[in-house]
Amino acid sequence: MSNIDVIEKFLRYVKIDTQSDDTTGTSPSTMKQHDLAKLLYDEMNTIGVSNVFYDKDHCYVYGVIPATAGYENAPKIGFISHMDTSDEVSGKDVKARIVEKYDGNDITLSSDGKVVLSPDSFPELKNHIGEDLIVTDGTTLLGADDKAGIAEITTMAEVLLTNPDIPHGDIKIAFTPDEEIGEGTAHFDIEKFGAKFAYTVDGGKLGDLEYENFNAAEGKIVVNGRSVHPGDAKDKMVNASLICYEFHSLLPVQMNPMYTQGREGFFHLTEINGSTEKASASYIIRDHDEALFEKKKQLFIDAAEYLNKKYGEGTVEVKVRDQYKNMIEKIRPHMHLIENAKKAMTDIGVTPLEFPIRGGTDGASLSYKGLPCPNLCTGGYNYHGKYEYASVQEMEKTVDILLGIVNEYGKSYK
Ligand SMILES: [Zn+2]
Repeated sequence: MSNIDVIEKFLRYVKIDTQSDDTTGTSPSTMKQHDLAKLLYDEMNTIGVSNVFYDKDHCYVYGVIPATAGYENAPKIGFISHMDTSDEVSGKDVKARIVEKYDGNDITLSSDGKVVLSPDSFPELKNHIGEDLIVTDGTTLLGADDKAGIAEITTMAEVLLTNPDIPHGDIKIAFTPDEEIGEGTAHFDIEKFGAKFAYTVDGGKLGDLEYENFNAAEGKIVVNGRSVHPGDAKDKMVNASLICYEFHSLLPVQMNPMYTQGREGFFHLTEINGSTEKASASYIIRDHDEALFEKKKQLFIDAAEYLNKKYGEGTVEVKVRDQYKNMIEKIRPHMHLIENAKKAMTDIGVTPLEFPIRGGTDGASLSYKGLPCPNLCTGGYNYHGKYEYASVQEMEKTVDILLGIVNEYGKSYK
C-alpha cells in the first residue's frame, strides 16, 4: 500500500494530550483538543486535502478529497473520527512502544513491572500472535480510541491524493471533539461536511461493522412518603424507601444488564436514595427493538401508576426521557453502506463482524440528524485504560478497508 505510514502518523497523534472533560460545560470541553486539531489542519493542507476548514469556535476540522475526473457526481461519502480521549485515564505524555512479532506471552507495560498486559486477563491477545502490537508504558491510555481512526483516515487521504488513478467521488473527512463525553455531534455541521453518507472509524477489532445500537431512555421515580413516629405509625406512615423497593420488584428480574446480552434489552438501576419521607431511583432503559423498547418504557410508567392506585395519587412521580435511538432504522434504506463495507473487507480476507452495539455511537446521533453513519473497525483494543493496545497489521488493513469502500462507491457509479 505504498510508503505512506499509518503507524508513523498514529504515533505522532497519540503524543498530543486531548482528554475531554464532562465537568467544564464548555465547547470544546478542553482547549488542549485544539492542539491536535491544529496539527490535523496543517497536515491536511500539506498533503493536499481541499477546502480544509477549522471551526476554531467548536474545534472541528473538515476537509475534502475532490472527485477524480468524471466522478464529480458520484456519491459523496464521508469518514469521521474523534480527537478526544476518555477522561477515565490520563492521556498526557503517552509513551507508546511497539512490541514486534508478539509471542503470546505477558507484556510488561510499566517500568516497575506492576502493570502487565497478559493473555490470562485478555485472552484475545492470543489472536495477535506474530503481529506487532502498540502498547502503553502502563501509566496512561494509548489513545487508539480514536487516534487510530484519525491516522487511518489521513493515511487513506494521502494514498488517494498521491494515486489519482484510483477513481472516486468527493470524499469528505471530519475530525470531531468531545465524543467521549457524548458531545461529539453537538456542533457538527452536516451541511458543511457535505457527504450524503458517512462512516465513523471508531470501532475496535478488525472486521467490526456496527450499524445497530440500543434505543435508549432514562427513567426516574420520586416517591413521596409520610414519616410518622414508628410507635404511632399504624395506618399513617407511608415509607417511601419501601415503595421504591416495591417499584423495583415490579420490573422483570431477568431484564437486567447482569443477565442480558446480544439483542436483549434491560432496565438498569443506576442510583437509589431513600428515607421514610422521600425516596428516588434512576434507571436507564435499553432495547434494540423499537416495539420492545416502547413496551419497556410503558411498563416503567405502569409500575408507578399501579403504586399510585395502591397508595394514593401523587405517591410516585415518574418521568421517562428518550436519550438516543437505534440507527438501524436510518441505515436500512441505505444498505449499500453495509454491503460496500463488507465487500471491502472480504476482498482483503477480513471477516465482517456484524454485532449490535450495546450502547450508542456518534454515528447513531448523526444518522438521526440526516447523515446515515455506521461504525467501522480501527484495530484498537481495551479502550479507556492502561491496557489499551493496537495491532499494526490490523490498522494497516483498516486503511485498506477504507480505500476498498471508496473503490466500491467509485465502481458502483460507473
Ligand atoms: Zn471512540
